[in-house]
Amino acid sequence: MTTVKTLLILGASGDLTERLLLPGLGSLIAGGIASDAALVKGLRILGSGRSPKSDAEWQATVRTAFDGVKAKGQAAKDLVTGATYVVADPTSHDDLSRILTDIDGELVIYFALPPAIVAEVAKTLATVELPPGTVLALEKPFGSDSRSAATLNRHLLKVVPEEQIHRVDHFLGMATVLNILGLRFVNRLIEPTWNADNVEKVEIIYDEDLGLEGRAGYYDHSGALKDMLQSHLLQVLSIVAMEAPTSIDPVDFRAATAQVLRATQVWSGEPVLGGTDAPSRRARYAAGTVGTRTMPGYTSEKGVDKSLDTETLAEMVVEVNTRRWAGVPFVLRSGKAIGVPRKEVILTLKPVGFVPRGLKGVESPERIVVGLRPSSLTLELTMNGDGDPFGLERHDLGTTLEDSPVTAYGEVMRGVLGNDPTLSIRGDVAEQCWRIVAPVLNAWQKNEVPLESYRAGSQGPAAWRHDVTV
Ligand code: NDP
Repeated sequence: MTTVKTLLILGASGDLTERLLLPGLGSLIAGGIASDAALVKGLRILGSGRSPKSDAEWQATVRTAFDGVKAKGQAAKDLVTGATYVVADPTSHDDLSRILTDIDGELVIYFALPPAIVAEVAKTLATVELPPGTVLALEKPFGSDSRSAATLNRHLLKVVPEEQIHRVDHFLGMATVLNILGLRFVNRLIEPTWNADNVEKVEIIYDEDLGLEGRAGYYDHSGALKDMLQSHLLQVLSIVAMEAPTSIDPVDFRAATAQVLRATQVWSGEPVLGGTDAPSRRARYAAGTVGTRTMPGYTSEKGVDKSLDTETLAEMVVEVNTRRWAGVPFVLRSGKAIGVPRKEVILTLKPVGFVPRGLKGVESPERIVVGLRPSSLTLELTMNGDGDPFGLERHDLGTTLEDSPVTAYGEVMRGVLGNDPTLSIRGDVAEQCWRIVAPVLNAWQKNEVPLESYRAGSQGPAAWRHDVTV
């Protein structure tokens, strides 16, 4: 097999590689799309890490990941048998030079590495010679504030130009999130309603029933705000709130997301989160039962540093100061160990200005609910009731879509291998996302917002429930 492209995974012994990257690659094969098959043809997966591993062990890791997503056939076989592993420290100039001299053809370098060493690895890469057109793929977090994000950007730009840098946010690869584009922009019914004239508030909610799942080392220094809101949920917001891009390409699409995020800041209007003036709140789970699973309290989880005030549930309200959205609160929320984990975008509509006298009945507002997992759309609309023709009732019109065989990380791999950065985060946008959350992080550091507690398996602190009001 002639190698035309090498996917070099730095940190190949880690969790991300095994659980998400390799299955994502496999899902491109399982999806059976001809253009994806072309992307993986002639590809070599070169794993690298400091831990010793034989080629056979690495091939077994790739095979297991592929089997898990039913990636079969000659393409899967070629990728498995062609996979090789090299022991190397990604921060060492000598090690990187040694790996790179063996590479011919195109190169994609995937940083599956802990955030703490990413800048150092970028600096090291700037000192070695790379094949022309080399693509870099990086995982969040991109820095830890606007300034460090800008510094990281400068280091990366010394390695390759911006068009070859993929800052991965796999939420942008989720078919369910991308479906919002079709719903909004190729549709006469929804788009005219999608603005401040008609919408009272927008909620972007991504709750999980999972707890830490052994990832204390990472999560304990991150928390829900940085892990979810600062990254994934702001990207979802950018798609929910964007103006129609001229085309879904790296220039127009990313300009549209950047325009929204540049216009976004912490909410400055009347309090939205009940009972507090702060546009954010935070909490951490205590012991409880989620479904049938008994879960220890967060601070009793292995590897957690009790002295850190890490939150496992965060809410933040922002405003998008554009003509379309000025005055509409956007509530972003994500939590772990939540009993009924909702994953949805909800647009609550304003009441209609006029109801003919004689029509009566419904008081709750109409809503457009976009389910993010599973992918669904529900229009909660007011209509005449079944019996009394003048009595109004709420009816749900909806549809649920089938899961795409290509996973979110498959979408990421498609972009990275084809060097199409449309669904990756531009450098300036990475900095904007830190700017948006900075006031909340500051308030939390100064303890201006209390860290509350909720029982694992509940919906959050009791006082928060049904408490998000406009
Ligand atoms: P890990 O902590 O598992 O680290 C990955 C690998 O990096 C390790 O196996 C290790 O390999 C190598 N490594 C660790 N420390 C060093 C060091 N000091 N110097 C050089 N190499 C080191 O990370 P994950 O796989 O969990 O995550 C990787 C990235 O992906 C992170 O940025 C994370 O935020 C992001 N991410 C992870 C997700 C997940 O579910 N895991 C989800 C979304 C994003 P070795 O010891 O062999 O060198």
